[in-house]
Amino acid sequence: MEFSQGLISAAYILAALLFIFSLSGLSKQQTAETGNWYGIVGMSIALIATIADPRVDNVWIILVTMLIGAAIGLKLAKKVEMTQMPELVAILHSFVGLAAVLVGFNSYFEMDHSAMANITITASQQMATNIHLVEVFLGVFIGAVTFTGSIVAFAKLRGIINSAALMLPHRHKLNLAAGVISFILMVLFVQQGGGDNLLYLMALIAFVFGWHLVASIGGADMPVVVSMLNSYSGWAAAAAGFMLNNDLLIVTGALVGSSGAILSYIMCKAMNRSFISVIAGGFGTDVVIDTDTDYGDHVEINAEAVADMLNGAKSVIITPGYGMAVAQAQYPVYEMTQALKAKGIDVRFAIHPVAGRLPGHMNVLLAEAKVPYDIVLGMEEINEDFAETDVVLVIGANDTVNPAAAEDPTSPIAGMPVLEVWHAKNVVVFKRSMAAGYAGVQNPLFFKDNTQMLFGDAKDSVEEIFKAL
Ligand code: NDP
Repeated sequence: MEFSQGLISAAYILAALLFIFSLSGLSKQQTAETGNWYGIVGMSIALIATIADPRVDNVWIILVTMLIGAAIGLKLAKKVEMTQMPELVAILHSFVGLAAVLVGFNSYFEMDHSAMANITITASQQMATNIHLVEVFLGVFIGAVTFTGSIVAFAKLRGIINSAALMLPHRHKLNLAAGVISFILMVLFVQQGGGDNLLYLMALIAFVFGWHLVASIGGADMPVVVSMLNSYSGWAAAAAGFMLNNDLLIVTGALVGSSGAILSYIMCKAMNRSFISVIAGGFGTDVVIDTDTDYGDHVEINAEAVADMLNGAKSVIITPGYGMAVAQAQYPVYEMTQALKAKGIDVRFAIHPVAGRLPGHMNVLLAEAKVPYDIVLGMEEINEDFAETDVVLVIGANDTVNPAAAEDPTSPIAGMPVLEVWHAKNVVVFKRSMAAGYAGVQNPLFFKDNTQMLFGDAKDSVEEIFKAL
């Protein structure tokens, strides 16, 4: 089945519109499912139209490859735990980056290089060639940075390599040098009408640059890195779209690129980090982690005592974090919430913008457990209310409730707005040990007079409290 060019263009416009609807649907929990469907339908239309393009003459190879890819993707998607989603997203970004690099090289080697040496070439042909060379160069550059950067992000999120920032001496100068040298190589590449070695050299620099850029961003800044790589993968796809003359790939790449950039900016604002400093590879991360401070002793509590405390409370706020996701405690948490509400106790959830390991992680978990949206509040909506709250249950959260961010200017997470749970009358922290959170920083909250520690797996602890209630 072959489509005419007109039909393909119409299908591409429809797919692009569906992608825009999809993004707008995904921006709210209530419409997220419909948004997903718009995306699925849009992508199906895009795939069919691309394969049905008369210029495509190896349909069977594409179909077989797609089948293999789809089978692997389906198996992975079924197997992946919610807590592993950011890793999966990071590794998928690396594929987009690698694809852009391959498309770039292919597009360059397919160019008619003999025509470029032809002195009778017209000015407009020369211009078109130069533009194509810039597309190739930028596509390979962005793709290579995205590829290695995403692999490092994957390794950090999976815990294969340490999540702390790599502090090479003169690291900012190294980054700057990589950028400047690549720019000079691009100018030479265009001036000389191409050059295999220039392209290879730049690709090598970009691979190392991408690796270093992400390796030098540490701990709590990782959420921004993941969404920034999402943005880069969009721009890499858009560059591939220019090289392949595919309008839909350009539009889709631009949508992903700009939405990723906007999300990175919003997250930086939420964490009080400078956008430029994060994307430039961890400017301002020179703070040394202090492990020597003596915060005093912590006090332990058991599940029955927590149940008693809750029975005597009028208002309760639950602040979930990564540990709730690991323990899959969202279901018993909601059962406990219902039991408390049945006793006339006001229960609400406070969600930090970077709680968990991906944007919206906690919202997804709570929605999965059918917690009503109206009792799930964002940080700005609820931060003032802690002072009038009887009990705060910190379930598997750590960095996002760390008072050091607000009180200790030397802390690596200084300046990051956090849920100010310590203003409540009583705080109970659910975790398995005194271990630090993702950023690797000690949490003075655990040692405050109004805080008690409930050690154990969060799911088991919540179930015990539920029974005791
Ligand atoms: P943290 O990662 O700071 O801490 C989670 C805590 O959960 C740990 O201290 C751990 O303590 C505890 N925990 C782990 N497993 C269990 C379990 N089974 N039962 C009970 N407790 C458990 O969590 P937050 O959500 O507060 O902060 C998120 C961090 O991740 C931030 O630093 C953020 O910057 C970063 N990040 C966020 C991303 C995002 O997009 N949201 C992406 C990448 C990183 P213990 O081991 O003692 O049990």
